Amino acid sequence: MYDKLLIELSSPGRTGFSLPSLPDDYKGPDDYLPIGVLRKDEPKLPELAEPEIVRHFVALSVKNHHIDKGFYPLGSCTMKYNPKVNETVANLPGFAGTHPHAPSESVQGTLRLLYELQDMLAAISGMDCITLQPAAGAHGEFTALLLMRAYHKKNKQKRTNIIIPDSAHGTNPASVTLAGCNIVKVPSNNKGLVDVEKLAAVCDSNTAGFMLTNPNTLGLFETEIEKIAAVVHDCGGLLYMDGANLNALLGLVRPGDMGFDIVHFNFHKTFATPHGGGGPGGGAIGAKSFLEPFLPAPIISRKTGKNDKAIYQLESNRPDSIGRIHGFYGNIGVAIRAYTYILKNGPEGLKRIAKTAIINANYLMHNLKDDFALPFDSTCMHEFVLSGDKQLKDGIKTVAIAKRILDFGIHAPTVYFPLIVHEAIMIEPTETESIQSLDNFIAVMKQIAREVNENPEIIKSAPNNTPVGRLDEAIAAKNMDVCW
Ligand SMILES: *Cc1c(COP(=O)(O)O)cnc(C)c1O
Repeated sequence: MYDKLLIELSSPGRTGFSLPSLPDDYKGPDDYLPIGVLRKDEPKLPELAEPEIVRHFVALSVKNHHIDKGFYPLGSCTMKYNPKVNETVANLPGFAGTHPHAPSESVQGTLRLLYELQDMLAAISGMDCITLQPAAGAHGEFTALLLMRAYHKKNKQKRTNIIIPDSAHGTNPASVTLAGCNIVKVPSNNKGLVDVEKLAAVCDSNTAGFMLTNPNTLGLFETEIEKIAAVVHDCGGLLYMDGANLNALLGLVRPGDMGFDIVHFNFHKTFATPHGGGGPGGGAIGAKSFLEPFLPAPIISRKTGKNDKAIYQLESNRPDSIGRIHGFYGNIGVAIRAYTYILKNGPEGLKRIAKTAIINANYLMHNLKDDFALPFDSTCMHEFVLSGDKQLKDGIKTVAIAKRILDFGIHAPTVYFPLIVHEAIMIEPTETESIQSLDNFIAVMKQIAREVNENPEIIKSAPNNTPVGRLDEAIAAKNMDVCW
């Protein structure tokens, strides 16, 4: 019954709400609106009682997978549980009701929160200055590249090459292209890490910078990071950290101390803002002090007024700034959630987040490596990459394994990425999963590994019990028919 549209469930005269009675002198709508804009016929609206409406939407809400419904080990995406207290704080009327054009004097509380969040991010990352404007990770990358360009231009240097590893996230080369720079690829060595000698060989007077994810997209910590920083800096380039994997480092090590000049944060990954539906995100960046003049304007400044009272202002007069990269001051609601999350966890809590993310991933890796190939067998950080090669030899593609996982109420891991691993299965359990939840996933993966030989048909036909079966993904992406 809940597969029907509301209009199909409609029953004339049924209602789920009550309105106050009309005033005695009410004559009709034409008393309020010009005749020309009034509709001639009654609108066709569904007529339903409140429980029918609630059940309809609750049923819809669980058709798709989401983190409140089940485990979501989508590698690289950090699909962790988002505490509801973040929502409560972001929805306080003083924040949620703020007008974007409100003058600074009337939004001192919001500006103070943003200023303090910047301080927290600087402390967490070991950077000197922060901008909260970028709306997502990719936007942070793009902003950082503009900073690099502005810095080199100021130094009268024409440097347009950006080096990226062959394991890089797809947004890295995209941002480089969008920023008008050239991509120079550096290969990984047989341990899945940056090959420092090969890096040195591609660094030259055209190198604007090196974009590196640490831990990298194989979930491995770049142990030679200090050497890497020296090589890049020696040739006059800047070192950029794609910080999307920061949940593995919180409180343990800081990008600024490793030698990075700029880093981006993914608020919607590391700091628990709901994501996955394309909703608003946050991709703040942090930079070393020599890059501060180039940050997007406006920046938030603090000065001391009468009686030592702090006054927060948006400062736009910044001659070297790359300019504004987002309307107003970024996605404030997401920043409020990040602030709440950081304050609530505190320094010890943040450290526990990183340690738990790492332990959870290693626990899964060790329990699954007998059933699936593990191309880079070393201690991982918050995620690891298996290969479906063994299963492919038995005639089962990785995509089929991913679809079979859905039958167990679990989201599939990231598959076929990173590109340097054949039949890649990239698993990130995140820090918010209990050992029971991890053990359940291990049992599911082991069952599927057995089914490859014992019952391959059930994998080939998967998903078998989701609201929608196996889609033609190319057509589904091109002809989106949302009213099936
Ligand atoms: C998610 C991710 C990005 C891009 O972040 P968005 O917020 O989705 O734009 C970049 N790099 C890595 C390693 C990521 O995991």
